[in-house]
Amino acid sequence: MKLTFLGTGTSQGVPVIGCQCAVCQSDDPRDRRLRTSAMLEWRGIRLIIDAGPDLRYQLLRADVRRVDGILLTHEHKDHIGGLDDVRALNFVDYPTIRPIDLYATARTLQTVKKDFDYAFVADKYRGVPEIRLHTISQSEPFRIGPAFVIPIAGHHSDRFEVTGFRFGKLAYLTDFKTIEEEELRKLKGIEVLVVNALRFAQHDSHFNVEEAVSLIEKIAPKRAYLTHMSHEMGCYAETGPQLPQGVELAYDMLEIELND
Ligand SMILES: [Zn+2]
Ligand SMILES: [Zn+2]
Ligand SMILES: [Zn+2]
Repeated sequence: MKLTFLGTGTSQGVPVIGCQCAVCQSDDPRDRRLRTSAMLEWRGIRLIIDAGPDLRYQLLRADVRRVDGILLTHEHKDHIGGLDDVRALNFVDYPTIRPIDLYATARTLQTVKKDFDYAFVADKYRGVPEIRLHTISQSEPFRIGPAFVIPIAGHHSDRFEVTGFRFGKLAYLTDFKTIEEEELRKLKGIEVLVVNALRFAQHDSHFNVEEAVSLIEKIAPKRAYLTHMSHEMGCYAETGPQLPQGVELAYDMLEIELND
């Protein structure tokens, strides 16, 4: 199993347009963060988690030609804004059209249908994205071909649900602010945990570093990676060494491999 971080930045990305801070001005490529997304290659298939506004460049950068499914964690724009670009994937084997399979909760798919309404109308304009919608429930594991996926329910804020995913010994959670104790059981025995951490200071709707580390300590994976980071996280080279052992900042195009 291989996970590639396609993007590790929060909703504005890093650098932030117009920002003069040390992180946004850094020359270190690990400080340049596209919107949060990841690619999982497992059991012969390739899945993308989240499709934000940087999707096009992310797929070009990772040299992706085929995608077997896209999973969405929630409907915020930084996670769905690039869905129009699946058109290119639809047409890689033209004249055969390959629809993209999209997996998300009913609520998230509702927003996808609203924001990309032209892709779901009866009389479509030629060349619009071809997307097959698959409604998932946060309480029911599902299969994508040979891949068995366990959804993890979380709260982005009091009234907003978000979905994480467990694939074998790896779990990927982003845009979490809280998680119910009973959901933690689904994370038992994982080796790698990817979890969002926005910055050191508190935030209303995202874990900060302290909250992410406290979750990591509860789950006790062998390794943990932080993602969905703002420029307020500091530079990679300075912040990384301040983290507890076994916890690292992810960065764009970092690859993690594990046996499964
Ligand atoms: Zn986000
Ligand atoms: Zn900045
Ligand atoms: Zn969000």
